Amino acid sequence: MAQIGGTPILILKEGTDRRTGKTAKEQNFAAAIAIAEIIKSSLGPKGMSKLLVDNLGDITISNDGKTILDEIEVEHPAAKMIVEIAKTQYNKVGDGTTTSVVIAGELLKKAQNLLDEDIHPNVIFHGYRLAMKKAEEILNTISKKINIQDKNTFKKVAKTSMNSKNIVGAQEKFAEIAMNAIMQVRNPRNGGFTADLDDIQIIKKSGKSIQDSELIFGLIVDKEVVHSGMPKRITNVKIAVIDTALEIEKTEFTAEIRVKNPNQLQNFIDQEDKMLKDMTDKIISSGANVVFCQKGIDDTAQDFLAKSGVLSVRRVKKSDMEKLTRATGAQILNRIEDLSPKSLGIAGLVEEMKVGKDNMIFITGCKDPKAVSILVRGSSTNIVEEANRSMHDALCAVKALVEDPAIIAGGGATLMELSKQLRNYASTIGGKEQLAIEAYAEALEIVPKILAENAGMDPVELIADLRAKHEQSNGTDYGIELFTQKICNMIDVDVIEPRSVLLQAIHSATEVACLIVKIDDVIVASKLSRGPKMPGKEHEIEE
Ligand code: ADP
Ligand code: MG
Repeated sequence: MAQIGGTPILILKEGTDRRTGKTAKEQNFAAAIAIAEIIKSSLGPKGMSKLLVDNLGDITISNDGKTILDEIEVEHPAAKMIVEIAKTQYNKVGDGTTTSVVIAGELLKKAQNLLDEDIHPNVIFHGYRLAMKKAEEILNTISKKINIQDKNTFKKVAKTSMNSKNIVGAQEKFAEIAMNAIMQVRNPRNGGFTADLDDIQIIKKSGKSIQDSELIFGLIVDKEVVHSGMPKRITNVKIAVIDTALEIEKTEFTAEIRVKNPNQLQNFIDQEDKMLKDMTDKIISSGANVVFCQKGIDDTAQDFLAKSGVLSVRRVKKSDMEKLTRATGAQILNRIEDLSPKSLGIAGLVEEMKVGKDNMIFITGCKDPKAVSILVRGSSTNIVEEANRSMHDALCAVKALVEDPAIIAGGGATLMELSKQLRNYASTIGGKEQLAIEAYAEALEIVPKILAENAGMDPVELIADLRAKHEQSNGTDYGIELFTQKICNMIDVDVIEPRSVLLQAIHSATEVACLIVKIDDVIVASKLSRGPKMPGKEHEIEE
């Protein structure tokens, strides 16, 4: 509250909560660091899982940073900012969410120490940013470019991303699927490639084992053939994709038709049937033997289509309609008159098959489809969910590598190397910023530290050993392999990751740490309370 000559002036609305200076800072730091503390035990292949129960009592078991943060409801604004970076990381590269949160937490811890030594927030802010820029530079020099045709490396990267998931024995298969799926849907751009995960449809079904998951060079549509008299299997397929209803449009107004004799009524019905017959005739004469319709298909139209042996599916999702065009080359038409042989999609086989308890339509044998499907299986819902998260990570890792074909060593190796080189860089900067850069360098060591801690190893000893290794001329890629618990060249043991995932993790962690360091005032408006309704007002609305 400000004062003039002893008279208080009210600046903020009543009920506003304001915390400034040290209290604000301490609380922000504590809240943000607390999030990192929750998450850190789930980092890496030896990370622990969390059992999360939502407010409906549904349970999720996961060691996936993003999934955990999605489930826990965070109140404090600084903690929310940390949750946000996990989301950003997830949206931009899909993997590395735990890493980014853990690094952000450690950057804040180190910043707190610097603040306690009376180093100004601006110095920390500036030092951290210099360090991030330098780290990006170093990453570019120590990462290794790969050949875009080198399928083996893509598979290794996919496998590394799944090391932290519980899909024992299925990594090889999932890596193969992820690699083939991304290679199939990638698009050339500016001399390189991009891949859109929207072109990969994932269908989750519990029932069989994870090993029965498969990639389909085509699509799966989670619908059934609409009429029992229609064929369930068609080869040499020509597909009409229609987003208008195969029904007679009902008039908007109510009409009354008086008939004097039964024939007239029959004429009326015949007329409707004729319109439907015209519609279906157009489809059949275009050469189509399969119809996917986004809207409904009238019973009579179904009969006509069934009689002509046309396999039809109705109420197909819009997103599936688009994938159908990408997979089969069909055009989506909203006027049946526009159907022509050219607008039809081509596939080798369309078949209704039972998956678990449901029937689904498989469209396969598509020539160079630009959309594909992955059927993810598992013996229970929880296993299917974990398998799905694993597949997601593998797809993201391969996508990241397709778009930026450069790899780095995992298992903390690259962060150790960044840390070492940043320490050297700090000494060239001098002044108080040097302290901030050194703090930043040390903070990056948190990843190998936690990876080791989660595996029950002594982190202090490990970091000392790794530091010594990195002082050697060939030490750049040395990290900790957690299945053997040995310090080794991580490239040699195939623990490799896309450069862009770590780049993004460092970037978002630094951004959020810098943001929180600069906050010295937290002003929280009082929560909106709806209060009792005013009867007068209600009356006004009623009128
Ligand atoms: P994130 O959410 O950040 O992706 P993960 O739980 O997936 O977190 O763990 C990723 C970390 O695990 C990376 O630092 C990666 O290098 C490391 N990692 C993966 N496989 C191994 C391995 N075999 N040995 C040591 N570290 C590994
Ligand atoms: Mg991961």
